[in-house]
Amino acid sequence: MMNVVKDGLGWVEVICGSMFSGKTEELIRRLRRAQIAKLKVEIFKPAIDNRYSEDHIVSHNEQRIPSIAVTKAQDILDNVGDAQVIGIDEGQFFGMELVDVCNTLADRGLRVIVAGLDQDFRGVPFEPIPQLLAIAESITKTLAICMVCGSPANRTQRLSADEGRVIVGAKEMYEARCRKCHKVPANA
Ligand code: ZN
Repeated sequence: MMNVVKDGLGWVEVICGSMFSGKTEELIRRLRRAQIAKLKVEIFKPAIDNRYSEDHIVSHNEQRIPSIAVTKAQDILDNVGDAQVIGIDEGQFFGMELVDVCNTLADRGLRVIVAGLDQDFRGVPFEPIPQLLAIAESITKTLAICMVCGSPANRTQRLSADEGRVIVGAKEMYEARCRKCHKVPANA
């Protein structure tokens, strides 16, 4: 779809879905393809997400690619250098500021690829991903497999009783679930 693009036309791609749906894997695949095409690539992730590696993004299947950890979306603008393709992992941690940052980069002619959770553990849309879907040129929803019944799954089940929207890096506390098997925790 995006194979024929005029020079200097930027755009925003979003890869979203539940945990265990392969979002980071897909992000890494696209970024690697850009690198093979000799494009300059820069990858960002939130500094709070250090679960596997401080200076790489790593998918659940252990693919990795060097990345810059930043504490807020604005820091991405300050670190793009002369990159032509920008990858952003775990976009849900950057807040609404990420929408303007992605638009700014795309307006400059950069290809921006954001991966992130589109729903929280309650099944509630997780900003800024819904807003990014609205401004994006291209959207991919990745599906996981329900860990209860094996159906296609787009929700994330939290298995612990912890409060707060996200427990960073504790993937054993979550399962992918389909709509039928997903249960909102009683205290949420
Ligand atoms: Zn199910």
